[in-house]
Amino acid sequence: MNVADCEDIAARLAAHGGREVDDPCQADLVLVNTCTVRKKAEDKAFSYLGVLKALKRDGPAHAPYIAAMGCVVPGGGVRISQAFPHVDLLIDYSDPDLVLAELSEHFAPLAPWEQGLPGGNSECRQDAGAPRVSGKHTFVTAIRGCDHLCSYCVVPAARGPQRDVPLGEVVAMAQAHERGGEPDIAVLGQNILAYGRSSGPGHPGFIDLMETLLAETSFPWITFLTSLAGDLTDEMCERVIAQPRITPLLHLPLQSGSDRVLADMRRGYTAAHYRRMVAKARACRPDLYLTTDLLTGFPTETEADFRETLAFAAEIGFDDAFMFAYSERPGTHASQAHPDRLSRAEKMARLSELIARQRSISAERHRRFIGAELPVIIEHTALPVGGALAPPGIGGNELPPTGSGVGATEAVARTAFNKIVRLPATIRKPGEYSRVRITAAKVSSFDGEEIG
Ligand code: SAH
Repeated sequence: MNVADCEDIAARLAAHGGREVDDPCQADLVLVNTCTVRKKAEDKAFSYLGVLKALKRDGPAHAPYIAAMGCVVPGGGVRISQAFPHVDLLIDYSDPDLVLAELSEHFAPLAPWEQGLPGGNSECRQDAGAPRVSGKHTFVTAIRGCDHLCSYCVVPAARGPQRDVPLGEVVAMAQAHERGGEPDIAVLGQNILAYGRSSGPGHPGFIDLMETLLAETSFPWITFLTSLAGDLTDEMCERVIAQPRITPLLHLPLQSGSDRVLADMRRGYTAAHYRRMVAKARACRPDLYLTTDLLTGFPTETEADFRETLAFAAEIGFDDAFMFAYSERPGTHASQAHPDRLSRAEKMARLSELIARQRSISAERHRRFIGAELPVIIEHTALPVGGALAPPGIGGNELPPTGSGVGATEAVARTAFNKIVRLPATIRKPGEYSRVRITAAKVSSFDGEEIG
């Protein structure tokens, strides 16, 4: 979601005459989007804001304007202004419209914004006409904020209650991306299955959203993220997941395999419901690629609960997983009702065991693709071998290097289920569809060769 917001803002600044630079020293504006979902993310934001102080060293004439936005700001704004006086502006929001409106009031070069310059992200992308350098996912935000009160989660406090983007706007955004030449889209919401709920009864829901996007665009691939298992229904599996133009990727966060912990987390489903819905989704979509989020060390998680999670994850056989150690977030229900009682060492020991177990499950499950022919989208045509790619994967790991050829390059494609395939080379351009044969399977990526 933060990546989607950053891309949206960057595209709109580009349409306004801005140009992205690699080095903040060369920038006129540095806008830091912050995340507070775990303490580590928040620490990273504070540390980066600290590093930016050096940019102001040579006096105001040469220094960029520095603004911080996003989830850390509502709760951490006072700390930022005390510790980092070089930050010129704190923006309480994440919503790109609001961020740009606020920014334009304070950062003079953006003042004409108030006179109603660029509109949505997709319009701007086309106007900017920038050459495509990467075939990465294009995001379309359908829901902002979240109404679920999972006891550990700070998202509803940091991003506010659920706001549905009206269906017409979502479709217009998707169509603009299509006209702009994007190969596929990913439709986003903290719980995308709840689409329509904040608009009241009678409004289009998730199935209407996806059926309308299928009818009104011709993207070969449409992905939806993220799904709360308690809201997944048989009808959604039959009418959406079964559609061939919907990608086979289902990201269905489990968090825990213990019903007692799930109840304390206020997740609103049981392991039995989760198991049943996975069976249904797999029946509707035999090529389903199932990923999840797992959270270990929740305060009420006993060793036995943790073992249940391990066993349940093995039973389900996730293709890939993001795994996290519990991090107490101020203001959440869990921070008051369930004091963090496990030591960091205990949490990390559980997390390491879980990651090791899941890595072998993923490696095993990925072997089924060896020899398979898969459609892909080319992401990069020439990256340094083993280069700095950080695709979604286990625990957010980066890919291990695949070769040592100094100066050698390789092409990188992604599958419909968003996994990286490294190719020796390609004649295609980023953003083009191709077909590959998988030659090797790793824990979180593949090697392959282009065919046809
Ligand atoms: N709305 C989505 C994702 C929220 S954040 C959902 O409900 O699943 C992404 C992941 O971060 C969560 O799925 C959870 O596994 C993890 N997470 C959220 N809060 C956390 C916390 N306090 N400590 C550790 N991990 C957390």
